[in-house]
Amino acid sequence: MNIHEYQAKALLKTFGAPVAEGVPIFSADEAEAAAKQLPGPLYVVKSQIHAGGRGKGKFTELGADSKGGVRLAKSIEEVVAHAKEMLGNTLVTKQTGEAGKQVNRLYIEDGADIDRELYLSILIDRTVGRPAFVVSTEGGMDIEAVAHDTPEKIITVAVDPETGLTQSDLDTLTSSLKLEGEAKADGEKLFPILYKAFVETDMSLLEVNPLIVMTDGRLRVLDAKVSFDGNAMFRHDDIRQLRDETEEDAKEIEASKWDLAYVALDGNIGCMVNGAGLAMATMDIIKLYGKEPANFCDVGGGAGKEKVAAAFKIITADPKVEGILVNIFGGIMKCDVIAEGVVAAVQEVGLKVPLVVRLEGTNVDLGKKILNESGLAITAADDLDDAAKKIVAAIQA
Ligand code: GDP
Ligand code: MG
Repeated sequence: MNIHEYQAKALLKTFGAPVAEGVPIFSADEAEAAAKQLPGPLYVVKSQIHAGGRGKGKFTELGADSKGGVRLAKSIEEVVAHAKEMLGNTLVTKQTGEAGKQVNRLYIEDGADIDRELYLSILIDRTVGRPAFVVSTEGGMDIEAVAHDTPEKIITVAVDPETGLTQSDLDTLTSSLKLEGEAKADGEKLFPILYKAFVETDMSLLEVNPLIVMTDGRLRVLDAKVSFDGNAMFRHDDIRQLRDETEEDAKEIEASKWDLAYVALDGNIGCMVNGAGLAMATMDIIKLYGKEPANFCDVGGGAGKEKVAAAFKIITADPKVEGILVNIFGGIMKCDVIAEGVVAAVQEVGLKVPLVVRLEGTNVDLGKKILNESGLAITAADDLDDAAKKIVAAIQA
């Protein structure tokens, strides 16, 4: 689960991180009052969308010479003018894809005088199974390009969760970022704060790009991107409230309501499976026969007919889907329940694309009987290989 920059900053502030004063707004009418609450004379007007690269982005409606999605303003009038231009328009950045994202919220912030822009993130380093800081003096810009062209400028410090950040970790971080004087003292305070926020709120990513050294020598969190581990959100009611569903894929929201694991992909075969392992095997074999999955929806074990029908509807709602492969191994999950769910969904929403079903396991004969007697145009498959061949052939026909 992702949250907006202004929400991330408010959260980090509760842990004691240095962030600028700022006011979120939802309409241009609120811009003047928001700016008046800030000291000035420099303001920043920041588009709040769940994607980075906003500064270098462009608004579709404003054409080729559109200014970016993060803008400095030297007066309240300028703040208002920017707000009017940005709100409601579509911001396209490197991370949004061509369609861009509509800007429905702005963050009006007190502007900082920047000396240096640094990069800092915390994530789970799976190779060592620990949270790790990733830092670089080359912040503010495209960190992927830095990693590609000058990997030596990116330093990783994995933290032992037993001890937390040690003095030696702090020394590595401050020296890697070339922090001195007050900035060094600020860093030694800030890094444990960020680590604590990461661990206590079950973040999967905390990215501060840039972390700035201001002209007065102090550190400030200038941008903040936070993702949380969705599986831990049941224990963070307050954080769950920060979810902005307008930023999410409608199908993923529907899937999460039914507690289904739905993942959108780029190909054109929709997959309904049970279990992550079978999902991977199904996708692999589709690729082996030359096609790509459009998505997969994992109904898990023990789903009822309604849940199966919901999964089927989510899969068919994707306009990219040219064919559907249902591949179920019924262990706990019963094949007749899957068949009933599929039939119910098809009766409700119709079936406009080829459907291949491979069922195996508990109540398989009953499941096949339900499908056969349904009168629907369903192609039965005997095994995984047969199923993949049949669906690939069907969409090429
Ligand atoms: P992003 O483009 O989505 O990563 O948005 P950021 O919040 O990182 O802002 C982009 C850039 O705008 C930063 O790298 C800074 O160069 C600039 N910027 C943002 N806030 C300020 C500010 O308070 N003062 C100044 N001088 N520049 C800022
Ligand atoms: Mg940034």
